[in-house]
Amino acid sequence: MPVLNRRQTLGLASAACLALPGAAWAQAACAISTAATQGAMTPDAALKRLQEGNARFMAGAPLNCDLRQQVRGTAQAQAPFAAVVGCIDSRVPPELVFDQHIGDIFAARVAGNIVNDDILGSLEFATRLAGARLIAVLGHSECGAVKGAIDGAQLGHLTGLLARIRPSLQRLDYSGVPSSKDAALVQRVAERNVRDAVAQLERAEVLRALIDQGQLKVVGAMHDVATGRIVWLA
Ligand SMILES: [Zn+2]
Repeated sequence: MPVLNRRQTLGLASAACLALPGAAWAQAACAISTAATQGAMTPDAALKRLQEGNARFMAGAPLNCDLRQQVRGTAQAQAPFAAVVGCIDSRVPPELVFDQHIGDIFAARVAGNIVNDDILGSLEFATRLAGARLIAVLGHSECGAVKGAIDGAQLGHLTGLLARIRPSLQRLDYSGVPSSKDAALVQRVAERNVRDAVAQLERAEVLRALIDQGQLKVVGAMHDVATGRIVWLA
């Protein structure tokens, strides 16, 4: 069968399970992202791809893509449709929880999914120069970096990293002595941290211009390490 592009693949998505045998469906869904398909994709379509990927992950039905074929297909160029800013937490690898493969997404990972100048520069490359249509900031439950920030943990260079999360705690309406033993507080700070990162990215000049042109969207999401489910923040 002919190789389908991303748009055709998306069009097939809803009916594919009925219309195509499993192997053919997997082949279509595993078609690599190209400059043409990336350019034709809207930010909302990119978001839908990530949502569908997490649905497959949740259902225990990830795509079984031929990764070596994808390596060959991306050897000359890459055109990922999205970028993800995630934590280094071993339970939240973006490619797995979004069921994405070679050449699909840029992934910037740093403890507590914070945004500093280097992460921002990476995202400017991913979007303005490499064409990604969506930036997803992906926080998660039970985040050790968030807990450390709440408790004021200090260790080498980690101290400075956690200081980037502290303002998210201070912006919350919270009375009392903050403690990482307060599970509800940990979750609230983690969500606030994601929302603050999204706002920070939306203010950045290079990204702002792409957003204003309708070329880019920045969204926040929270991953639940107990279930694998990703909830998108409104
Ligand atoms: Zn974390």
